[in-house]
Amino acid sequence: MSLKISHVEENTELLGPFKRFVIWVWGCCFDCEGCVAQNTRHGAYAEIEVEDLAKKILQSDCEGVTISGGEPFLQAQELFRLIEIIKQEKNIGVIIYSGFTLNEIKNNPDILNLLSVADILIDGRYEKNLDDGRAYIGSSNQVIHYLTDRYKVIGPKFYDKNKKRKAEIKFTSSQAVLIGVPSKEVFKVWQSVKEKTGGTQNAF
Ligand code: SF4
Repeated sequence: MSLKISHVEENTELLGPFKRFVIWVWGCCFDCEGCVAQNTRHGAYAEIEVEDLAKKILQSDCEGVTISGGEPFLQAQELFRLIEIIKQEKNIGVIIYSGFTLNEIKNNPDILNLLSVADILIDGRYEKNLDDGRAYIGSSNQVIHYLTDRYKVIGPKFYDKNKKRKAEIKFTSSQAVLIGVPSKEVFKVWQSVKEKTGGTQNAF
């Protein structure tokens, strides 16, 4: 069983509490105006065996994983299996960003199993007109759902509405990667980086 991914990043604190292993899955069924993750929809992807990715995550010292994209629930079975393998060895936390709303997921029995292993779901399409600059969230229609108690204490402080957005552009030998939910200023810089470097990978 393999997963189509756009990028992975170890040990980032930009997409959830504590150090996280972030997976940007490839492919999305939505087409939100102003989507900052264009390359996870139209760019290159890699296919990785679920067991191999699980090993990599278990070797990291991350508290948990954040799954973004792209649309994670398009690969719900693969991601469910990934989390299932990891949880046999380590009690990790799971945060998922999805364009589907919680209700849409609850009404689709084919993808419910992935929801069952998530501690937090941040849901809903990105609405450019509702982008109020809140940290960790693309637009104000998106809701942070605490599905378990795991982050219920730290969560409200971590996702404080008054925090400013933090994101970083990371350069590797072959690509530039945007990590985190960018402010308008960072997004402008990112767009010019993409124009100059071409073929870069972006991430949300
Ligand atoms: S759901 Fe996310 S990845 Fe998909 S189009 Fe909307 S913003 Fe982009």
